[in-house]
Amino acid sequence: MSVPLSHRPVLGSALGLLVGCGGSSPSAENTARPVPDGPNVLLISVDTLRADHVGAYGYARRTSPHIDRLAAEGVLFENHISSTSWTLPAHAALFTSLPDSVHGCTDTDRPLAAGITTLAERFAAAGYDTAGFFAGPYLHPAFGLGRGFDHYENCTSYAAALDDAPAGRWAMDVEVMRRSHRDITNPKVLAGFTRWLHQPHRGKFFVFLHLWDVHFDFIPPPPYDTMFDPGYEGSVTGEDFFFDTSINPDMPARDLEHLIALYDGEIAWTDEHVGRIIAELEAMGQLDDTVIAVTSDHGTAFFEHGQKGHRNSLFDELIRVPLVIRYPPVLTGGTRVAPQTRAIDVGPTLLELAGLPAPSTLPGGIMGRSLVELATSGNLDFDNTAVSELFSVGHRERTVRTLQWKLYDLMTQRRRFWTNLIEDPAERRLRDAGSGDSPRTRYLEIVAELSRRRRELTAGRGPAALPDDVRRQLEALGYVGTHE
Ligand SMILES: [Zn+2]
Repeated sequence: MSVPLSHRPVLGSALGLLVGCGGSSPSAENTARPVPDGPNVLLISVDTLRADHVGAYGYARRTSPHIDRLAAEGVLFENHISSTSWTLPAHAALFTSLPDSVHGCTDTDRPLAAGITTLAERFAAAGYDTAGFFAGPYLHPAFGLGRGFDHYENCTSYAAALDDAPAGRWAMDVEVMRRSHRDITNPKVLAGFTRWLHQPHRGKFFVFLHLWDVHFDFIPPPPYDTMFDPGYEGSVTGEDFFFDTSINPDMPARDLEHLIALYDGEIAWTDEHVGRIIAELEAMGQLDDTVIAVTSDHGTAFFEHGQKGHRNSLFDELIRVPLVIRYPPVLTGGTRVAPQTRAIDVGPTLLELAGLPAPSTLPGGIMGRSLVELATSGNLDFDNTAVSELFSVGHRERTVRTLQWKLYDLMTQRRRFWTNLIEDPAERRLRDAGSGDSPRTRYLEIVAELSRRRRELTAGRGPAALPDDVRRQLEALGYVGTHE
């Protein structure tokens, strides 16, 4: 699994280019942009893709042959955890390498603050041509997620409805939700990317592709609609999943089976597009000169804990997502990484693979860490505890997770639970976190760290208060330095 040093990306290799261009006059801005000598970088987010429904993660159905190929030729991260269970803050975490309560883009009325650097901005600053293609409403630039992209294309079929009105008017609009649920966008993202790819470029590219169609409604086109449940004769269609009250915990088991088969069909239909994207790069001779990462923003629930869909809890069916990265010059094909990794780690990993300087992890900097060392040598040299949070549609929840345990803080209920994930991987036996062996002290340390990091990031823009209950408990435990 080790990689010859000569093939490892050299950190800071592009820094010299930046320095070399530092004396240019503003009028020469376009030509002064450095030209990177690293690889292209392609980041694909398959919205709503549970890790456990991907073939390479052990799923029995053949839902994802193309993602599986990337895993076979690259690295698969077996325990990858999102920052939340819905689209907007999850992508904000992916782009900023900060947990949700630190980047602050936690709901539709809280766009990403201007002072927080995005991954696309980092690649643009290093001279990359940057382009993003999004297909769901919460990736709209109104929320700040388009920052740093030279080209940021709205691939929804209702683009004008979003672009012509303030986000506050449509972000929670039921009709926009219904249209987004029904929308079929994979071909548009593929076409937009292909068109852009064949245009002339100055040098290397960083491209973000948001593939939306795995998100409900579960209405894959033929042959994917019948691929995994051809004998079904019931009435479930996969349409109107979110609003249809007949899709509930008491629905017939056979109908639920079919619904899951339709979800799997959407995965296979979307995976076909991942294959076409790879084929485009291959046809242009760019495949091995491109870092390709495939991940997701969150999963979806089929009543494992009584709920359907997402944005309603932080159980593992919602926060365990795939992460697969292919880049043969550095990453050995077929490598599987068992230690837990986090959405906030993706950005610094891609930057290191591109040979770019690591962003600061000091106060005001990012909180994610590059996974290259872990993927190439197996060494884990940072605290990989995962924080996932939900501050939307009436929820105020946080989980803190290791491979051994998970603590759940339901803030609106003022209740905390925890479970031992080794003994209880299905999260069925939640215990009160006030009990003797719970990891509550570690949890409170992490909450204090989140609060501190948020304060550092927003210095000069008003303080972020440490929650009163957390402050009191930290004081009771004898912690100092956590006061406002
Ligand atoms: Zn999503």
